[in-house]
Amino acid sequence: MREYKIGLVPGPVSVPGKIREAWLTNFGSSDLEMEFFELYAQNQALLQRLLGTKESVVITLGEAMSILWGGLKSALKPGDRLLAVASGLFGEGFADMARAIGVQAETVSSEYDSLPDPQKVREAALRFRPKLITAVHCETPSGTLNPLKELGEIAREAGALFLVDFVASGGGVAVDVDANHIDIGLLGSQKVLSLPPSLSISTISARAWDVFEEVNYGGYEAYLPWRSVPAVRYMPCTHDWHGMTALNVSLSSIMEEGMENAFARHSRVAALCRKRAQEMGVKPFPVSEDICSPTVSAFYVPDGWTWEELDAALRARGMAVGGNYGRLAGKVFRIGHMGSQADEPLVARGMETLREVLKR
Ligand SMILES: *Cc1c(COP(=O)(O)O)cnc(C)c1O
Repeated sequence: MREYKIGLVPGPVSVPGKIREAWLTNFGSSDLEMEFFELYAQNQALLQRLLGTKESVVITLGEAMSILWGGLKSALKPGDRLLAVASGLFGEGFADMARAIGVQAETVSSEYDSLPDPQKVREAALRFRPKLITAVHCETPSGTLNPLKELGEIAREAGALFLVDFVASGGGVAVDVDANHIDIGLLGSQKVLSLPPSLSISTISARAWDVFEEVNYGGYEAYLPWRSVPAVRYMPCTHDWHGMTALNVSLSSIMEEGMENAFARHSRVAALCRKRAQEMGVKPFPVSEDICSPTVSAFYVPDGWTWEELDAALRARGMAVGGNYGRLAGKVFRIGHMGSQADEPLVARGMETLREVLKR
């Protein structure tokens, strides 16, 4: 197994030493001890601040896909309608997942290098009358960031719940859950928070809880059993005390830095990455700078290179970047500068390595 000195994969990101250390502490029983429930409450409060919400925060076990499924299954019954706003793989994925559980799904899509037109979303929402509208804040494979405010307002106007996957942006850019009318907000641990991929974080509005009660879904990814944790000291399974401690270290370090400073650091590093790429003639994938995500940059694989050759040449120099999926596979590669990797010297070193490799 190789460890890359220049780790710039867009998740799972490099886990910093102090988070690894926190992870390795030994604990008692997370389902029985007061200390664990206090830690859970502390993390909830920090996440409310970070994500801009006064509504509930639920911290569950499992990789982020568990809450993408959990959000859909908790809010929808077979026959219900879902409208997916899609400009990439994850956006489209919500419609596919919904169909797999018997939900009628429609999509308002754009090319993956641009963003869906909110006016088209509004028309579709008012005609189709979905119960749930889904959107992806940072569409990681495309390197784009989708503004949420207008979509949230459309969901309110159409009487739909608004679910947002901010797995790859939350903590690196403001997501403003309440201001953007997000009813179900989803965040993973292995992106900006720089933890291993074992915890998932969801924000859930009072409106969403009402729908969850009515749907009454039961299953491993169901939210209802978590509703009263930690006021009621009972969880559906043993929690990950290691992960929860590491999460506390990660959130505390963002708060020490200052949230605004952390967001500014992400923007600065993203700008540096794209400027260096431009200087060496590497073409950005998104159609314009203003739709680029501050947490990940997507570029075309340069002419004269296959993705496999580029990847091998970078890895030979100790640098790992992200490939791509579906229609972008082999054509677009990604540099993940989120969380621990939103680090100017690291990204500068990575871009210098890329420049040396391309001189071949
Ligand atoms: C990482 C990510 C997820 C979780 O998916 P995995 O690839 O399984 O980690 C979900 N949504 C977005 C936008 C992501 O970037």
